[in-house]
Amino acid sequence: MTDIAPFDPSLDPPGEPRIVTRENHSISRGLIDPDVLKILYRLSRHGHRACLVGGSVRDLLLGRTPKDFDIGTDATPSRIKRLFRNCFLIGKRFRLAHIRFRDNKVIEVATFRRAPTPDELPDDPGDHFHFVENVFGSPRQDAFRRDFTINALFYDIATFSVIDHVGGLEDLQARRLRVIGDPQTRFREDPVRMLRALELAARLDFTLDPDLAAGMRCCAPLIAEASPSRLRDEVTELFRRGVGGKVLLQARDFGLLPHLLAGYCGDGDSFALLGRLDERAAAGGSVDESLVIATLYLAPYLAAFPPRRESHIVDALHQAAETILPHCRHFSIAQGIRQQARELLVACFRLVRGVGLRGEARFLRHPLTPLALELFLLYVMDHPPLAELAARWQGLICRSGPVAESSGKEKRPRRRRYRRPSRAAGAEKKDP
Ligand code: ATP
Ligand code: MG
Repeated sequence: MTDIAPFDPSLDPPGEPRIVTRENHSISRGLIDPDVLKILYRLSRHGHRACLVGGSVRDLLLGRTPKDFDIGTDATPSRIKRLFRNCFLIGKRFRLAHIRFRDNKVIEVATFRRAPTPDELPDDPGDHFHFVENVFGSPRQDAFRRDFTINALFYDIATFSVIDHVGGLEDLQARRLRVIGDPQTRFREDPVRMLRALELAARLDFTLDPDLAAGMRCCAPLIAEASPSRLRDEVTELFRRGVGGKVLLQARDFGLLPHLLAGYCGDGDSFALLGRLDERAAAGGSVDESLVIATLYLAPYLAAFPPRRESHIVDALHQAAETILPHCRHFSIAQGIRQQARELLVACFRLVRGVGLRGEARFLRHPLTPLALELFLLYVMDHPPLAELAARWQGLICRSGPVAESSGKEKRPRRRRYRRPSRAAGAEKKDP
């Protein structure tokens, strides 16, 4: 049947999978999103292998709520499109089916892939990347091309069993993160896997397998070769999930950090503040990229330009722009985000500088001031001498309402036109 992705079983890695039947594992269908179940059943009814794959199986087995459910199948992308009216094929690099539901809900369905053999690769190395991601394979081959053993477990809808091709169940039990295959080879293939390893270990509180750790130490500088836009997304996501500080601290210990963040090294003060931002995110606080940038750079900024009562805000602004420039250039951060990060830094500068200075009334009512105060309060947690000042600011900011953000439609005050003095007036001056 041409609808089934062709694969060569002789390329299957040796060995047999471990199969855990329904009575012997904890995944029940009640824990799976009903729309995901519908897709799995429909694929299965039409003669396809259909499995829950990746992080969702891992999380369900750990008793956690999965962030998303990914589906793996032997149906080709065009077949998936024919089976689901609400399906859209996306991605150049990695052909994927997106099945869309109400409220912008999207469920990803991927055809099983495998790593191509060296003689299959196209002649032009520039085409490798695209090709490598799009060779269809068997479920076993698909499991082996994934990153970590705990991310390669399948839940098969036909039998309700969990299928483990790579020893992931044992690692899950031991709460250990292990790379599938040789860590150095896998990190060279895709250096972002090193960051994913630190993130997963932090989120799940797993230990790193010693081979993984050794591989990471060797390959750390390679992270600089990953696409900045991908790294930028990953780093922002770390902070949204409340593990940014922990992961960057580990990244520093593995020698990854400066290669990851455009030369950023971070000091004790910075890591303390990043940890506080994690606590805030874990407690439900929202985290956006400008706040992440301001948190990363607040301590070095204040160290380079210590706030004094006589310091000028123009100089503080200039210094803030300089401090975040290498980061913003490297990651092509949009102007709006840069500006907000810069303003957060300058607002913190004002807060540390003290109360009762010029421009305070306006500052108190600026829409960004409450967020700057939050950042400052996080900073103060590790700088107790500033606690009294922080309390004064808190009182002042609470008492003044924020300025309504401009809609851009308000009537502008009329500018007075500059008028040339008339000749007569000039003549008058000259000749009183
Ligand atoms: P979560 O969704 O909770 O962040 P996840 O493990 O599901 O965790 P995804 O980014 O959704 O992460 O990826 C889904 C699956 O795709 C992973 O579990 C893994 O099997 C595979 N995967 C993702 N990125 C890579 C990679 N760089 N190399 C190999 N496999 C990967
Ligand atoms: Mg996922």
